Amino acid sequence: MNVLDEAKSIVDSERRRIEREFPDLADLLKLVETEWKPRMTKVAGLARQYRSGRRQVIMSRFLFSKVENMEHVADVFCHEFAHQVVGGSHGHDSVWKAAAIRIGGPRAANQFHCMQVVSKPQRRWQARCPHCSKVLEITTVRANKMLRGFTYRHSNCGTVQDLVLLQRPD
Ligand SMILES: [Zn+2]
Ligand SMILES: [Zn+2]
Repeated sequence: MNVLDEAKSIVDSERRRIEREFPDLADLLKLVETEWKPRMTKVAGLARQYRSGRRQVIMSRFLFSKVENMEHVADVFCHEFAHQVVGGSHGHDSVWKAAAIRIGGPRAANQFHCMQVVSKPQRRWQARCPHCSKVLEITTVRANKMLRGFTYRHSNCGTVQDLVLLQRPD
């Protein structure tokens, strides 16, 4: 799985989680399309509402093709979805903040549209736990075994799903 596909699957699982945990937001969530825009190089996410009623969360295809930004995908999506929930007029006020915390926890409320981009090349292997979304540094030995078909699990979170290897380092 490439990094962007991994980012897309994180958004999909966030959508399923929000639908499950917040039935009052499920109808709105269905209206909100997710777009992945390649030209957003500084802004991680945006919430758009059109006069037609169309609603979008726009995510940066550029930033979320980088493995080091995977840990922000869920927070940025929840941040933007909170804008959809309260409406654009609230900006980042206390009403928006309460919605962001409710939906995505404190990290969704702290994360702003401009994300700290880490652009230096990744030298260490990483893998993501599909259960808790944590990105873990892994050893080269272990990464090479994973490439040959061995599987590992995140030992600290009670998952029954295997780690997903994210990217070959330079
Ligand atoms: Zn915002
Ligand atoms: Zn885990």
